[in-house]
Formats: sequence, C-alpha cells, structure tokens
Amino acid sequence: MTESIHDFTAKLRQPSLLDHVERYVRWRKDLRRARAEGRPAPPPPDHAPISINLDLTTACNYRCDHCIDWDILNTKHRHDEETLRSAIITMVERGLRSTILIGGGEPTIYPGFSDFVRFLKDLELQVAIVTNGSRGDKLLEIADVLETPDWVRLSLDAGGNELFRAMHKPVKKSLSLDEICAWIPRIKQRNPNFQVGYSYIIVWQGASRDDVAIRENIDEVVLATERAKRYGFDYIALKPVLERAQGGAEVMDPSAARDALNGTVVRIREQVSRAQALADERFAVRVSTNLRVLEEGSWRDYTNQPSTCHMQALRQVLTPMGTFNCPAHRGVEKARVGGQEAYADAAMAKITSGQLADLMDRFDASHECREVTCLYNGVNWWLEKMIEDPREEIDIEPGDERSDFFL
Ligand code: SF4
Repeated sequence: MTESIHDFTAKLRQPSLLDHVERYVRWRKDLRRARAEGRPAPPPPDHAPISINLDLTTACNYRCDHCIDWDILNTKHRHDEETLRSAIITMVERGLRSTILIGGGEPTIYPGFSDFVRFLKDLELQVAIVTNGSRGDKLLEIADVLETPDWVRLSLDAGGNELFRAMHKPVKKSLSLDEICAWIPRIKQRNPNFQVGYSYIIVWQGASRDDVAIRENIDEVVLATERAKRYGFDYIALKPVLERAQGGAEVMDPSAARDALNGTVVRIREQVSRAQALADERFAVRVSTNLRVLEEGSWRDYTNQPSTCHMQALRQVLTPMGTFNCPAHRGVEKARVGGQEAYADAAMAKITSGQLADLMDRFDASHECREVTCLYNGVNWWLEKMIEDPREEIDIEPGDERSDFFL
C-alpha cells in the first residue's frame, strides 16, 4: 500500500483540484488528436503547477557527506526577493496551492525566512518546511502561522550525537542532536496544530556520493525512533539514501551494495520492525515507499515511466538557479523549465507555459528517469491512460476531499 502522503492519484482526485487536472488532461488529449490529424497544436492552459518545491537558498551550514545537492550548495546563486514574491503571486493566480521549502540549501538560513513564510501563509498556501533543524529559533518564530496540514520535517539521520556530527559536519561544531531536539517541545507548546517529523535517511555500507563513502547508520534506527518519540515529534520517516546517477538524476542504487545487499536488507528490516513496535496513537513510524520497495525487492517496478511525465506540469521546483521539472532533476540543465523569473508576471508565465510544452516533448521520462524509483510512477500512468483513452469525455471519479495539496 502506498503511504497516503504519497498517494498522488488520490490527491489529484480531490474535488477542489479536479478542474485543474481536467483542464490539463483536456489539453493533452487535444494535443494528441491535433498531431494525429496534422492540425496546429492547441495552446497549453494558463496554469502554474499545483505544488512547488521552493529552494530559498543554496547556502547551508552543514557539510553532510550524503547530501544529494552537494554540487549546488553554497554557490552564488540567489533569489531576487521581489521577483520571487511576484512569481508566487502569479502562480497562486494560476492554481498554485502548496509550497515545500526544501533542498539545495538550508531554508531557515535564508535572511528573510520568517517574513517569507508569513507571506506564503497570507496567500493561503499550504506550507511545508524541510530543515536540518539547526535553527530551532527560526522554526519557533513561525510556528504560530502554521496549521493543518502544514508540516515541518527535520533531517537528522542519526540516533546519537556522535554519529549525527560525523554524518552532518555542522559548521558550528558543538551542535548536538540533543540541542536540536530540545526545540521541539517549545515549538509544540506554541502551536500543536501541525506535524513535526524526524527524517532518517538509511545509509548502508557501499553507498557513496561521487567517490566519498558515506557513513552507515542502520544500527541507530531504533535509537532515533526512541529519541523522536521522547522529544514529542509526531513521527519518524525512514527512507533509503539516494545517489546522483550519471546525467544528474537522483536514484536509489542498491546495486552499489550488491554483495552485501541481502544481508543489508535483513538488517534494515530488523531495525525497522523494532522501530515500528514503538508506534502508538500519538507517534507514527512512516516507512517510505522507496524503502518498502527496496525491502520487497520491487523497486524496479517504479523505474518504468511513460515517455511523457505529466507531473512536470503539476509540480515543479523553483530554485535560485532556475525552474526545473522535478525534484529528482533539480539543477539539471535538460530538466530546466525556465529561469528563476519563470513565473515573475503574467507575460513570463505565458512564455513558461510554452517552454514547458516544449520540454514535455523533449524530455523522455522513459529514458531520463529509467533509474529513478519514481514516487509519481502510479499517478503518471493514471494520467497517461486518461489522455490515451480515445473517448472524448474525461471521466475522473472524484475522491475524498482531504485538503492536502502537497505533491
Ligand atoms: S517521471 Fe518521475 S522522476 Fe521523472 S521527471 Fe517525472 S516525476 Fe520526476
């Protein structure tokens, strides 16, 4: 079973998103028909994505060996804040519903972090924050504006201070897991109405970034789960490490540990089931789809993508280096939708729609994402089948309204 936060088909079937999704499917159906009949291509809808990953900065105050964004960290690229705010407003007018502040750098060290989160909430966007947790003071500052289903997730990846420091190499050398976790009860006391998660990327022997071996952390899964529960986190999320393939895509590469893989999976499974035993009605242990398919050995099924990735129209990544079609291809030139000003105003948004249409023709996901264990695999095939269906009408059965627009 897919975790509900990763059940993107159910999310797109929410009644409040149906109009957006149907207009997208209509355009793609009309486009196929026009091409088959040799007529000019219909224009794409004047849409922004429903959800974006927004990298506020490339700056980071850690030097994690396992960082997937190592190549873009601490580069000189910056957002122009006025352009960024204008882009967000333009996108909201075109259907943007949620923003995940994440990746490429540490969002809480963006100079205008607190003001920017308040700006997003004033626009009634759903907001999620993925942070290294080093600036608990910044999280406390914005805790009052977050609400269900907003969330904050701390990337911690260890259960004890020694492994935490060895994996993350914080610039402030004395920083400890204890210090980071001590902020959580204070944040919860200020506002208990949003989820706070403890993220744990499981690293096994043989995983690497470029040629840098990454420290294994399988044995601290249970310790971390106990810690997360003790400090009042709502959940721990367990997922496997990703690596950059040649060409830039983020992939899970268990073959790197092939010799030891079976033994590794057994050890991971043992730790994960002990961690799961700690779950109760207040505290959840979430096993990511990626980790589940690694354990089941079915991860290859998620690498079979349709040629056209439809999710690139519904979820994009806005970074100081430009706008990209997918988090798995952040910063990769061939996945570029436009610049950082791609949605700066209505005129730019129109140009960007055209560029996106071109990219969708050019970017063959069945090739470019052939090694990616893509969490959007199911929803992409669901959209593909609707578009390919020769019947004129579009028949999407409405699902439950969960008011969750994170994609
Ligand atoms: S197929 Fe998956 S990995 Fe590839 S661009 Fe689409 S969402 Fe990203």
